[in-house]
Amino acid sequence: METCIFCDIAAGTIAATFVYHDEDVIAFDDVAPQAPVHTLIVPRAHHEHLGDRVSDRLLGALFAAVPRVAEAKGIAHSGYRTIVNCGPDANQTVPHLHIHVLGGRPMAHGMVCFVDE
Ligand code: 5GP
Ligand code: ZN
Repeated sequence: METCIFCDIAAGTIAATFVYHDEDVIAFDDVAPQAPVHTLIVPRAHHEHLGDRVSDRLLGALFAAVPRVAEAKGIAHSGYRTIVNCGPDANQTVPHLHIHVLGGRPMAHGMVCFVDE
């Protein structure tokens, strides 16, 4: 496998600001935040996206981490949005599965923007 940024962060060879970790997942702040809170939840194991042989157990571990991260970041009550980009049309830029947790400011209703708009 070619070098993977998120595998390197999980291995500790690239630094990140960690928010949460357990035996299956790590969570760290996005390096280019798109909201006052922007944290990524990442499986320790490399899976490209949701369609890449992810077990039900790991899916459970990933989503179980969401409210824990929200609590740790102080947005559990104000609310937050989760996004999982999968593949080219979703403009996934890091091919290692991750959940974006975004919050800290009220968001507009629309949540999708296309390249030709
Ligand atoms: P995607 O576009 O694949 O859904 O999201 C990838 C995210 O990873 C982007 O929001 C980007 O800012 C973030 N990112 C890319 N490289 C790094 C890095 O080295 N460290 C951290 N903390 N975030 C990164
Ligand atoms: Zn990886």
